[in-house]
Amino acid sequence: MNRGILFVLSGPSGVGKGTVCAELRRKLPELVYSVSATTRSPREGEQDGVNYFFKSREQFHLMIENDALLEHAEYVGNYYGTPRDFVEKTLSEGKDIILEIEVQGALKVREKFSEGVFIFLMPPSLNELKQRIVGRGTESQATIDHRLSVAVEEMNLLHHYDYAVVNDEIDQACNRISSIITAEHCKRERFLGELFQQLENVETADNV
Ligand code: 5GP
Repeated sequence: MNRGILFVLSGPSGVGKGTVCAELRRKLPELVYSVSATTRSPREGEQDGVNYFFKSREQFHLMIENDALLEHAEYVGNYYGTPRDFVEKTLSEGKDIILEIEVQGALKVREKFSEGVFIFLMPPSLNELKQRIVGRGTESQATIDHRLSVAVEEMNLLHHYDYAVVNDEIDQACNRISSIITAEHCKRERFLGELFQQLENVETADNV
């Protein structure tokens, strides 16, 4: 059985990764979603174990010490990390998994999983990105300013990714990601091992 494919959806703060991922979750139920651990407090409507595993700083540090996280990053004063076992288990069961994480974490995953597929979600323009960050309205001015400067730096990391998807419209962005998933499943490398095995079997049968 082929291993599943690890997809990483990342991109600058405010680009809409969370919204796109929530829509993908609805549209592609066979794709497995990695639920991150975080030390930030739940926002209204967020559920523990569904949106995040909400942890205290102590609990989070324990996860780091126990090597339970595939990657982790500090982002605007809080920690975020990807539970390792769930990712490994899902891939070994032949299922695809998607991580929705910020860029520092994505780069760390790239070092460990060079075979992963890295998708950079882009805003239609930098101006649009600024509007989205300001418009979210859930954060203080200081947090917004910080998020904005981080987001501009993050845009410069595009060259580390395999694909760029513009999030101009959620449906369109999801369709593009879905096409990437299909294309990745059609990569010849995924068939070579099995094909060689079949060819070997044919040759052995011929020699009998
Ligand atoms: P928020 O607090 O808005 O839910 O998320 C803040 C940022 O943390 C987003 O860019 C989100 O993609 C990122 N994030 C969520 N989970 C993880 C994770 O497990 N690891 C890393 N590195 N970033 C994450």
